[in-house]
Amino acid sequence: MDKEEKMDLKSGYPFWAVKNGLMYAFPQLDADLTCDVVVIGAGITGALIADELAGHGHDVVVVDRRDVCWGSTSASTALLQYEIDTHATDLAKRYDQASALLAYQSSLRAISEIEELAHEVGDVDFANCDSLYYASNCSDVSSLADEFAWRKQHGFPVRWLSRAALKDEYEFKAPAAILSSVAARVDPYRLASRLLKRMQRKGVRVFDRTEVTSMTATADSVQLITDSGMSIKAKHTVVASGYESQHWLRQRVAKNLSSYAYISDPVNPVEPGWLANTMLWESSRPYIYLRSTGDGRLLVGGEDDDRDVPARRDRMVERKAATLQRKVGRLFPHLQAQPAFAWAGTFAETSDGLPLFGEHSQHGPRVLFALAYGGNGITYSMLGAGLLRAQIEKRSHPLTGLFSFARLE
Ligand SMILES: Cc1cc2nc3c(=O)[nH]c(=O)nc-3n(C[C@H](O)[C@H](O)[C@H](O)COP(=O)(O)OP(=O)(O)OC[C@H]3O[C@@H](n4cnc5c(N)ncnc54)[C@H](O)[C@@H]3O)c2cc1C
Repeated sequence: MDKEEKMDLKSGYPFWAVKNGLMYAFPQLDADLTCDVVVIGAGITGALIADELAGHGHDVVVVDRRDVCWGSTSASTALLQYEIDTHATDLAKRYDQASALLAYQSSLRAISEIEELAHEVGDVDFANCDSLYYASNCSDVSSLADEFAWRKQHGFPVRWLSRAALKDEYEFKAPAAILSSVAARVDPYRLASRLLKRMQRKGVRVFDRTEVTSMTATADSVQLITDSGMSIKAKHTVVASGYESQHWLRQRVAKNLSSYAYISDPVNPVEPGWLANTMLWESSRPYIYLRSTGDGRLLVGGEDDDRDVPARRDRMVERKAATLQRKVGRLFPHLQAQPAFAWAGTFAETSDGLPLFGEHSQHGPRVLFALAYGGNGITYSMLGAGLLRAQIEKRSHPLTGLFSFARLE
């Protein structure tokens, strides 16, 4: 494969990059290397996968063409949810009940796994919260009710809130909502950066500003060549290059769009108070969503464009933030939360809302893709870490089939 153009992944001022700055400097690769597994991409996906592999005895090298975490990870709003953008009831219709259950139950477990890791790494603004998923209009109530019934029947931690209950308990106007008691938030840039630094201390070789320009797989190894002509030879390669991963595949596997976000200054006290520990999203597609941070800011996202045109995205950041702010104002007339920083990013989604992990016939079994696409990208990356380790260790894993490229055939 040939050298790719660097994608313009984000616009405006992604808050995490502004807040944290360049946390750690990693070297550029300036010598040939061999290792068990080379991970292309040092965002949250590459960091979680490398951590999982290195923690289980694999000799891992991580390379990134940018500074680490400077891709989509710095633009993420990082709501951690088991609730996939595609309802479980729709997944069950598209595939079967067992697949829907597997996707939702695995995602539920992934939240606890991220929590455990976040506590181990420390200081990453992780917090558990509730998730309030409301019907945007009356015509969505029946599909939401079906979704609620499915989740309840399968033991998910949900409560149904009628219009009256929402008004009583939340002073919030909507036709109905599903309240989930499992969700979380994190600073994704900080989590990934601190993970990478931690693994470097333990001997993992991490290089940034090192671009992989070619990849050649044989039956027993993969050879990568970097932009400065260095060679990395590994038993396996994991392509965790985010939305740029499509470059390595002739098959179009996802659709790129643009997504917008803004964050306010700290709002103290937040009004209504429940917003401090409850994230909010809705049944319309694309949806608007809202969550708080540890220092009391409100983070709002949505207003997706259905195509990703970076120049247009750059121009639209302020206007989209103003639209999001107006919509928040309609939901919460007493909330004072002006945009302090606004940004946007490329975002990719698959047709069923599920990610793609594993080998692709174009490259064979030595090259494993980690395409954590969709609104639950970070939760998926956590699941992908265990899944890809199992594949590298030649063990079976329950998600191998459901998250594989085979389902696109
Ligand atoms: C606005 C927005 C809001 C979002 N909100 C949420 C949310 O609320 N919850 C959630 O779970 N997910 C969310 N996501 C999705 C989530 O952010 C992504 O799933 C996640 O950031 C992807 O991480 P990644 O590591 O796969 O990609 P990236 O962070 O982009 O990392 C990939 C890395 O690969 C490197 N790379 C690419 N090509 C090469 C090459 N040839 N050689 C070397 N390095 C290379 C890049 O430089 C980059 O650093 C959101 C995304 C956006 C844009």
